[in-house]
Amino acid sequence: MTRERELESALGALSDRLANACRGAGRDPGEVTLLPVTKYFPARDVAILYELGCREFGESREQEATAKIAELAELSLPIRWHMIGRLQRNKVRAVARWAHTVQSVDSIRLVDALDHAVAGAMEAGERTERLSALVQVSLDDDPTRGGVSEADLLAVAERVAAAEGLVLSGVMAVAPLDVEPERAFARLVQVHERLLREYPTATVRSAGMSADLESAVAYGSTCVRVGTALMGARPIPSP
Ligand SMILES: *Cc1c(COP(=O)(O)O)cnc(C)c1O
Repeated sequence: MTRERELESALGALSDRLANACRGAGRDPGEVTLLPVTKYFPARDVAILYELGCREFGESREQEATAKIAELAELSLPIRWHMIGRLQRNKVRAVARWAHTVQSVDSIRLVDALDHAVAGAMEAGERTERLSALVQVSLDDDPTRGGVSEADLLAVAERVAAAEGLVLSGVMAVAPLDVEPERAFARLVQVHERLLREYPTATVRSAGMSADLESAVAYGSTCVRVGTALMGARPIPSP
């Protein structure tokens, strides 16, 4: 089978799966964005998925993403790129050139670095719009896996909201491996609702991946980030 046919069939199956999940949860499928995660897969796959109708993509490693996006530049595809992986402060300048959204904002220092990088990118004419930011929430309080603790969420959100170059758009979470996804997503709902009381426009709830998108949709996810179920198994396991 050609890669085109393979991706077309996987995207069809995934769209059906997502539509079923929405029906099961009594939700309108239009409320949930499908974000293909193309890490470890080539620029050509992105171009194929674009032809199939995808307009937003997630990447988790800055160097790989920067190279891939440069490769795609000559096609001038109006794609919204989301940075979804852990982001070191020395990588923010590159990310500020290409990202529409950073979903993995998890410290005040990162907020400040991103804000500064966005200002620089605007000054250099590399971007015109502010950067959309999701605060990544840790659902197991294990700081090594990224995300802010519930206790720190409002402080980080406040900093994002005050940053000139950033727009506080919502929250993101990865369900921990050792907790039932339902429990983790129920906790995310509580945390997000608390944030929404202060910031009613921060409506994005990015939750759910290949293995747990049904339960994420049941718990109000507005963005599912899907790699494996669409692209196939990654050549190398991601960190
Ligand atoms: C890789 C990745 C995904 C996609 O995971 P799959 O299980 O392959 O669907 C989603 N979110 C984040 C943050 C990731 O790094």
